[in-house]
Amino acid sequence: MKKIKMDTVRRKKCKNIFFVGFLVILLVLFFVISKFYINYVKKITYGNVYNNITELSEQTATQLNLTIDNQKKFVEIMIDSINSGFFFDVSEIFNRFRDDLDSYHFTRLVILDEDGNGITSDGYNVKNYPNIQEFFLQEDVYLSENRPSTVSDNQVNIYSKTFKFKKKKLVLFATIDTDNYKEILSRRLFNGNGGTYLINNDGDVLIDSYDKIKNSNVNFYDYVKNEYNIVSGNDIKKLNKMQDEINNGNVGTFHILLSKKVYFLHYEKIKVNNWYVVTMAQDSTIASEIEQFLLLSFLLFGIIISLLLFVFIYMYLSNKKKSKKLYETAYIDSITKLGNEIYFKEKGKTFLANKVRNRYVMVIDINKFRYFNRLYDYAFSNLVLEEFGKCLTSVMPDDSIISRMSRDEFVSSFKYDLDINDLVDAIFDKVSKLRVDNIDLNLNVSIGIYKVKRSDTDINKVLDKAYMAHSKIKGMYRYNFYIFDELLEEKFIEEEQIESDMKTALANGDFKILYQPKISVKDEDFVGCEALVRWVKNDKVIYPDKFIPLFEKNKFIIKLDLYVFEQVCKDVNNWQKKYQFSPVVSVNVSKGHFVDEHFIDEYVKIADKYGVDVSKIDLEITETSAIDNNIIKILDYIKKKGFIISIDDFGTGYSSLSMLQNMPIDIIKIDKIFVDSIDYNSDKNIINYIVSIAKHLNIKTIVEGVETEEEVKFVKNLGCDIIQGYYYSKPLSKERMEEFFKKYNE
Ligand code: C2E
Ligand code: CA
Ligand code: CA
Repeated sequence: MKKIKMDTVRRKKCKNIFFVGFLVILLVLFFVISKFYINYVKKITYGNVYNNITELSEQTATQLNLTIDNQKKFVEIMIDSINSGFFFDVSEIFNRFRDDLDSYHFTRLVILDEDGNGITSDGYNVKNYPNIQEFFLQEDVYLSENRPSTVSDNQVNIYSKTFKFKKKKLVLFATIDTDNYKEILSRRLFNGNGGTYLINNDGDVLIDSYDKIKNSNVNFYDYVKNEYNIVSGNDIKKLNKMQDEINNGNVGTFHILLSKKVYFLHYEKIKVNNWYVVTMAQDSTIASEIEQFLLLSFLLFGIIISLLLFVFIYMYLSNKKKSKKLYETAYIDSITKLGNEIYFKEKGKTFLANKVRNRYVMVIDINKFRYFNRLYDYAFSNLVLEEFGKCLTSVMPDDSIISRMSRDEFVSSFKYDLDINDLVDAIFDKVSKLRVDNIDLNLNVSIGIYKVKRSDTDINKVLDKAYMAHSKIKGMYRYNFYIFDELLEEKFIEEEQIESDMKTALANGDFKILYQPKISVKDEDFVGCEALVRWVKNDKVIYPDKFIPLFEKNKFIIKLDLYVFEQVCKDVNNWQKKYQFSPVVSVNVSKGHFVDEHFIDEYVKIADKYGVDVSKIDLEITETSAIDNNIIKILDYIKKKGFIISIDDFGTGYSSLSMLQNMPIDIIKIDKIFVDSIDYNSDKNIINYIVSIAKHLNIKTIVEGVETEEEVKFVKNLGCDIIQGYYYSKPLSKERMEEFFKKYNE
């Protein structure tokens, strides 16, 4: 039992690993598919947003470019006019261009010398303008980054260009309020979620259209990282990529997760100073739609996956239950919870493979359990079997394999290093003391033992040997056991020989049929004969008692019986043709046939093939097969087909005369042992008793094995109908049989 449990555990473990593995694969699959799915959905929906934001950014950049271009051109025009020598002093220059300033959004003009001293077009004096060198270093029209105005609170940008005036190197400033650019940048509204920035090559924010960045000189990348608390490495990577691209003068679009919201960014280069317009927007509608869509998708995915999982788990569990049940019905005996025959043989393989000393196989049979069965009810005898199983388990060595083979028959394989007689004594002792429901059962067992040899590899053979040993003591009254010995070994080898020869013998026609006549008591007439098989092997005759029991064990008897029947039909057919007569022939039918309810159909088919009338065929069925439960149904069916039915060896089995009442039986054959044990001094004997009841039931009687005249006389007096025995004739060959019935028919 321990072993069975371990097996189940191992099986369970295997299945669990498989199950968990499957779940993991399912989950991984789910995540991979989800990831692909999300990316796909994002790609198509984000694609639109990318286009929109790029367009916005490009438009802003174009407007900035146009404005700056115009303003630059105006500065160039002014310088060209100055250089053409048209003006005599600075105020003339101012006067000439003052009216045009407004249309280019300039606030004022300033002319400064290399020390930063000069005058503005609206009448301010400027002293030591800071960093004036920056402007004198530029050759072309230059646009400065925004800086505080020297004359107002505003931020300004300055266009500048140097020129020579009256042999002095001067610079012309055209100043513009940074708010002008801010206005261009803020033409697109993003509801506060994002904005447009002008940044320089290093990422420093020049203009923030929404004034979110309060301090100037803030770096855009740092601002975004700090403001939105970016921690995800992926988003930092995206920002770094933007920085690289800007350094290389490229434009680009991307999205990034800021405060759990998706922001879209586009950076577009403008024509001046490697400045970039950065447009950043959170597309709330699209983002939330996507989110909703994804949420719904996930929900749906989730439901489907859970459903699948549920179905899968359900199937797995019910399968597990089923296979456990299957395992139990296949290997476990339902009454004792020990193993069954299949289990024993399965385990037997490893038992035999483990070639250690002192291994045994034991058959333990409860004596007279049949009577016991009748004494108590079925449930109680099952309980006895269960307790008996426990009792055996407790007394057998550890690690023994114990199985129940049939109703009251147990087998065990085990290793035992002490004297085996001690173990047998212990079993006898323990079993005899077994009590169930406070009832002393007084159980006796008979034990057959086989000591396993190293050369043994076939558990069936090993079992056969234990059974063979057991059969040596079957029928003995009190405790007993038998250990397989040399004598049995010889018999075993002989039987093995028979088994290996039987098929060829059948094919070669080595099984011959003899016929023993049956004579009627009334007028000593010939009334029929019994077909008896012989095996002629190398000119030697082998009698059925040598091979029939073995064939009954290995089921070969089914084939042999049919063969005999076919030979009989052939002979009957011949006799019919030759003499227009054939006797009633009795054929022995082994109990092995009775497992198949309609086995007789095969007999009918053969009889038909040879045109034999089955009402002249008498089937001899042994009494032991006749006490089976299903028998009446089968006999009825045989009777319906038209055969004569005899009960063979009557009186040796366990059937009672009363059972005959319900059976469609024509003849009872009284076994030879009753003839052998006739007490001539008494008129009370069994034959007498059987004959009178049979008469009462309208059943004919045959007495078998009548050898002497004395016996004939005696039997005749009992009023039985037919005699079969050596007194009239031994079994005869087909030819001698012909002569026999011809003589009788004359
Ligand atoms: P059985 O059916 O009881 O057959 C009667 C046996 O008693 C035969 O032995 C027969 O030769 C023997 N016998 C008949 N009269 C006398 C007598 O006066 N004195 C003595 N000492 N013996 C007598 P056999 O032929 O050796 O057959 C033995 C058993 O083998 C049969 O017993 C039957 O059970 C079985 N058998 C024989 N042929 C077949 C067969 O074709 N199929 C099957 N299933 N069993 C068969
Ligand atoms: Ca017979
Ligand atoms: Ca018989």
